[in-house]
Amino acid sequence: MQFVSTRGGVAPTPFDTALVAGLAPDGGLYVPEELPRIDLATPRATLPATAEAVLAPYLAASTLRTQLPALCAEAFAFDAPLRPLRGAGDHVLELFHGPTAAFKDYAARFLAAALGALRVPDAPDTTIVVATSGDTGAAVAAAFHRRPGFRVAILYPEGKVSPRQAHGLECWGDNVQAYRVAGSFDDCQRLVKQALSYTDLRARRPLGSANSISLGRLLPQAAYYAHAAAAHFARSGRALHFIVPTGNLGNACAALVAQRMGAPIGGLHLACNANDTLPRFLDGAGYAPQPTRATLANAMDVGAPSNIERLRHWFADDDQLRRTLQATSVDDATIREVIATAPARHGIVACPHTATGLEVLQRLRGSGDTRDWAIVATAHPAKFDSIVEPLVGHAVAVPDALAACLARPAQSRPLAIDDAALREVLLAG
Ligand SMILES: *Cc1c(COP(=O)(O)O)cnc(C)c1O
Repeated sequence: MQFVSTRGGVAPTPFDTALVAGLAPDGGLYVPEELPRIDLATPRATLPATAEAVLAPYLAASTLRTQLPALCAEAFAFDAPLRPLRGAGDHVLELFHGPTAAFKDYAARFLAAALGALRVPDAPDTTIVVATSGDTGAAVAAAFHRRPGFRVAILYPEGKVSPRQAHGLECWGDNVQAYRVAGSFDDCQRLVKQALSYTDLRARRPLGSANSISLGRLLPQAAYYAHAAAAHFARSGRALHFIVPTGNLGNACAALVAQRMGAPIGGLHLACNANDTLPRFLDGAGYAPQPTRATLANAMDVGAPSNIERLRHWFADDDQLRRTLQATSVDDATIREVIATAPARHGIVACPHTATGLEVLQRLRGSGDTRDWAIVATAHPAKFDSIVEPLVGHAVAVPDALAACLARPAQSRPLAIDDAALREVLLAG
């Protein structure tokens, strides 16, 4: 299997090259030449086994082919349980059992393991530079922590992530350094893009990126959708439909990949926060990226979802896309109300991102929908204790992995919104 760019300006490229490059040279996003259909209706014994089956066609010509079982075992080392909720046909797919308690752990670990396996022995260290609005940086830091040959520089907007999210960025040490920027996420992202564009800097200090457009983050995420849908189908004989809390559209695109490859997945519904670029577009407006608005579900604060290019690439035209996918925008007041009522109504405590999915589920049931739906729980509520606990009226138990991270000392350095300052840091690092 080879990989092409969503903008069509790149010759078919092998997996390893596309993985290391991140962005395609024409500025587009890498996509597989095709999404092959395989048997995904028969459940496999474990999540790593499903991941191996899903990824095998894409790595068939890769030097990593023989290491795929080991890579999947490492990336998918923790469960992604599908649990029934109180209402008939209602389920939750819990993706928050990894080291940083959010779904990004799976793919960040796959990417880190794959880049580690592709590393040339004795090459100088590569610094992974990552801008984060909260969860990405922690998942990438955890995945590359103490991995030989890599360093990580995380840039995050000071004061704009939850206190526990900040701790999750600052608690690593060793080869990981967090930088707090007195600005917005967009400022952080601009600095990182600028640094990655300096060829002279990159000649002296190898740099890498780990953002959500990387193939190494997109494709592995198809595994947990395929695994949950196959288990549900084996039990019930029915397709499972997914509601995906959505920001940059990476997780939702992975669900589409699993569906196209043959997993027994019915429909997909995107749950968005007040950043409603996708709901407007799917409701029939033109695609119009907007400035980002800050919401309670901060990891979904995206006004210009980068994976939209992949989504459009996989449909004949926008009308076909609109007939296939729905999206709903959920405002902060509703997120609060859903978090407060979810324990009694659904039997779960939800993080603000997961709450957008629950709201969509409630609206679907309210309109008489009787299909089997799973909302995707993208983060553990304990990560957002300052929002969730006052609403549910009690403390939320912290999962062990997150507790271990919170118990370690936190440390970060200030960084000015200044290209030269970041250059200096990377050269010195
Ligand atoms: C990143 C993130 C999202 C959004 O995922 P995308 O792949 O960017 O659409 C949703 N919820 C949480 C908790 C996240 O960290």
